[in-house]
Amino acid sequence: NAPLLEVENLQVEFKVRGKSVPAVRGATFTLEQGRTLAVVGESGSGKSVTSQAIMGIVDDPPGRVTGGEVRLHGIDLLKQDEETRRTVRGNHIAVIFQDALSALNPLWSVGFQIGELFRVHRGSTRAEAKKRAIELLDQVGIPDAKNRVGHYPHQFSGGMRQRVMIAMALALDPEVLIADEPTTALDVTVQAQIMRLLKQIQDERHMGLILITHDLGVVADVADEVAVMYAGEVVERATIRDTFKQPAHPYTKALLRAIPRVDTVGQELEVIRGLPPNPASLPGGCPFHPRCWAAEDKCSTEVPPMIEAAPEHRSRCHFATEVYTNER
Ligand code: SF4
Ligand code: MG
Repeated sequence: NAPLLEVENLQVEFKVRGKSVPAVRGATFTLEQGRTLAVVGESGSGKSVTSQAIMGIVDDPPGRVTGGEVRLHGIDLLKQDEETRRTVRGNHIAVIFQDALSALNPLWSVGFQIGELFRVHRGSTRAEAKKRAIELLDQVGIPDAKNRVGHYPHQFSGGMRQRVMIAMALALDPEVLIADEPTTALDVTVQAQIMRLLKQIQDERHMGLILITHDLGVVADVADEVAVMYAGEVVERATIRDTFKQPAHPYTKALLRAIPRVDTVGQELEVIRGLPPNPASLPGGCPFHPRCWAAEDKCSTEVPPMIEAAPEHRSRCHFATEVYTNER
């Protein structure tokens, strides 16, 4: 029985001024049905490009998927033609983005936009489509959905608009929902509400959920597993519990220290020194070494392999085991 979604050794390149620049360099992770996977990393780590590759919406050119597999129920989507991939989008895998306003058409009521999906993909009548749109808006917690269905995107607050986006993504009953920084533009209270909504929907529908975020703190309560990305690679993979309790990669450890906590309010948070590397000129050896507090000589010359620091807990670091056991 194949897992719901497997990404294996995914490679994506972008052409920048005639030069090939790697954006994703061998990303590997698995999403099981009914589970939530957080893909965490700074901007430029390749996390959004990975989700675009899963959706089959990498802009070609300048982007190109150059290797690896994206398997849905064991079937490699990268080998399917564009028509099949179009069917997969929405019906099997759906995505919501950070910016709901730019993803919605300002000239159409939200009910029309959601209803359009039922009319085009399910052959619903206008009346049926409207009824389904109201049901969906109701499910995502929009009060007075019957009335709100006729409203336009600008008539909703940021949080409510994000709910509309979620309703649209759910319309065709996908098995996988990818949420790319879904709450970054929202204030903290609304962030938490949207995260709870996503989690609740994922539970009810038994979907696979991928949460893409730069903020480990936001996903702490909702994710089951985590894949931490750095410079286009997955550098740590584990359950969220193990990752918080015992991170096995120095980068993850640094990310965790940068999460504001109640008991650290007022204190200066430890941020990771330096900037993520330019993908066009990655440092040799471990790409994290110029910023790593645990680096040694060999880190600048030898590429670290993925090491199983503990069962089901992998880290791409020469000293994964020592970091895991806190000896480093
Ligand atoms: Fe740091 Fe070296 Fe591990 Fe890279 S391999 S994360 S530089 S200790
Ligand atoms: Mg992004």
